[in-house]
Amino acid sequence: MPHGYNGRILHVDLTKGSLTIEEPNEAFYRKYMGGSAMGTYYLLKEMPKGADPLGPENVLTLMTGVTTGAAISGQSRINANAKSPISGGIGDSQGGGFFPAELKFAGFDGIVIKGKSAKPVYLWIKDGVAALRNASALAGKGTGEAEAAIKAELGDDKIEVLQHGPAAENGVIYSSLVSMANRNNGRTGMGAVMASKNLRAVAVRGTGKVSIADQKSLVALNRIGPKEIPNNPDMDGLAKYGTASVVLPQHSSGTLPTRNYNEGQFEFAEEISGERMYETVLRGAAEGRQDKEGRDTCYACVVRCKRVVEIKDGAYKVDPKYGGAEYETLGTFGSYCGIKDMAAVNLANEICNKYGVDTIAAGATISFAMECFEKGILTTADTGGIELKFGNAAAMLEVLNQIVTGSSDFGRLLGQGSERAAAAIGKGADECLTTSKGAEAPAHMPQAKRTLGVIYAVNPFGADHQSSEHDWMYEDGMASDLYLGRLKLLGLTEPQEQLSLGKEKVRFAYLTHVFYSMLDTVELCQFVWGPAWTLYGPAETAEMVSAVTGWNVTVDELMQVGARRLNLLRTFNAREGLDSKQDKLPKKFFKALQGEGPTAGFALDEGVYKTAIDQYYEFAGWTKNGIPTADVLKKLEIEWAAEYLPA
Ligand code: SF4
Repeated sequence: MPHGYNGRILHVDLTKGSLTIEEPNEAFYRKYMGGSAMGTYYLLKEMPKGADPLGPENVLTLMTGVTTGAAISGQSRINANAKSPISGGIGDSQGGGFFPAELKFAGFDGIVIKGKSAKPVYLWIKDGVAALRNASALAGKGTGEAEAAIKAELGDDKIEVLQHGPAAENGVIYSSLVSMANRNNGRTGMGAVMASKNLRAVAVRGTGKVSIADQKSLVALNRIGPKEIPNNPDMDGLAKYGTASVVLPQHSSGTLPTRNYNEGQFEFAEEISGERMYETVLRGAAEGRQDKEGRDTCYACVVRCKRVVEIKDGAYKVDPKYGGAEYETLGTFGSYCGIKDMAAVNLANEICNKYGVDTIAAGATISFAMECFEKGILTTADTGGIELKFGNAAAMLEVLNQIVTGSSDFGRLLGQGSERAAAAIGKGADECLTTSKGAEAPAHMPQAKRTLGVIYAVNPFGADHQSSEHDWMYEDGMASDLYLGRLKLLGLTEPQEQLSLGKEKVRFAYLTHVFYSMLDTVELCQFVWGPAWTLYGPAETAEMVSAVTGWNVTVDELMQVGARRLNLLRTFNAREGLDSKQDKLPKKFFKALQGEGPTAGFALDEGVYKTAIDQYYEFAGWTKNGIPTADVLKKLEIEWAAEYLPA
């Protein structure tokens, strides 16, 4: 019996209706450890080159990691991988909650899904046994309603469900996968892929346990968590105010994207802050019980950073079933759109969770359209009469509803994401884009956090704020001794000046990219496990993986795992024809920021960026075109992947 993992991967062929079980050996688990690396292994081997992302040849993988389901914070995560309908390259998205642990308890480490079912189905897994069931009755139902219907049909309220929502049925390419009606594998269109296979949901229930090799060490590590939260201001803020705790610091430092990324400060930041949310709209806030009712968690996590918002009165009512807005959502529907209405932003969050769409893509696509409207590139003739101006909350919600329901030409256009919309609109609309590889930029600004610009460009699945550490962790005079001590374990010992993008800063970007890549492979929450500010650092991460699996894992071995995953993702992209030409930043980032505050006038420099990206390729050992070499793949013991590199 292996420790940590089950040793069983479920293969589902929806065309044939077949379900088979593979039992990989221990060496396979130790090399890939789960998540995105394991998923991309199957994508390369089982998906033909050039597959249509929304066709039956695409392969969708759902992979937990070797520690998922262990009783410690930040381990209940699952990675979805497939060819992305947004970029045509790799799709990759991580989500949390209780589904990932429940899948492990149900006897599987992951699922490989291919083909397309003739009729709508859902996959039901209970204690090692899997079956496909009729999902016709679920068509068009919101995620909350569909989840309740599945639980009622199967007669068990403890079932966990991961599903796409109705937005995917309505053709929105940035559709997400949703569990608990409020947790998302949000980015890169994984919900659209699942819908294209006529698979509505995966429902799981397990009564098994994850076997732990060294229970005593795991318990000792687990005990550190609750004690450390009050000693670490970043963790303390996250626990109390959720990810929204960073709205005000981002605003003060001039890095809160405002009015479609044209400014770095939002004059109404306080009104959409985590503090305001805690005091006013968290469930139970009126009675002072928000710590009990307004904060939610993932399996076994003591941080409880998830929000539960309930608004019973006023123009915008919000159902607590659909959670509450994260920082990114407050950013994209709030400051990006110039909207200060907390209730409207939380209603937008509810609509996204109910219909199953990525809040970053949806909010940023609407803010893109708002800028086009302000500039006269779009008019009321295009919007169906909607005055789509910055700050117009009613217009934002109306357009969002049209997107998720596909009920108008304009909604269907924006449902294709801002990059495709800009191409269709023309008239210089591309000047309003914030995308890299089709992914709208999250609410962390490369104009000030310079290494994020490198990562937004080179990351295999586009702009992402959770793929590397942010600059200020390696900033001379700013970062704490604890954070710098942890970064030393990755070989980072020379903190840099804030706006530098010299070679050492690029090395920081590369090494932390590799570390985060490992987190998306072992499947760990990046708010709990990380290279700097989190509850646990790199040394404890290695200790925890060792305690769960019984392997003697070091930080170096974890870095190898992270590098393996990054190289597999880039190899997939290279096979599909993506290379350095797609490693681009939007034009907007090279223009001076407007507005007020410490970053007003900041812009990126084309020449500095080109040099930094070349340096990143050198650190990674890739070609000048950003393609992994056979030598690098061999060093990482994945030489088999070289056959997928272009000649
Ligand atoms: S820190 Fe938040 S997102 Fe991460 S596992 Fe804990 S509750 Fe979930």
